[in-house]
Amino acid sequence: MSTSLNYKSFSKEQQTMDNLEKQLICPICLEMFTKPVVILPCQHNLCRKCASDIFQASNPYLPTRGGTTVASGGRFRCPSCRHEVVLDRHGVYGLQRNLLVENIIDIYKQESTR
Ligand SMILES: [Zn+2]
Ligand SMILES: [Zn+2]
Repeated sequence: MSTSLNYKSFSKEQQTMDNLEKQLICPICLEMFTKPVVILPCQHNLCRKCASDIFQASNPYLPTRGGTTVASGGRFRCPSCRHEVVLDRHGVYGLQRNLLVENIIDIYKQESTR
């Protein structure tokens, strides 16, 4: 059992916000998700840009045009749980947007700048 020494000095509200913030951090860029956020089949989230980055890194043979992968399908592993994500010809644009997470980030940012 190793909890940080500062742990107890956080208020309950602060802990909640910290935990919430962790849920909103992209495992790729380690920043809060940038819109638009995509949801993977395993329910993990990624910035679309980051999803596109690892998708291209995992599929280097795919032709690109102007830095954008020409849609032709492919696969990559979820950086959070290693679940294999198979994309159709729409690539990362075929992934569903997570509007809930986008809205939470909006609210969170408004709260933290107040
Ligand atoms: Zn990201
Ligand atoms: Zn996952």
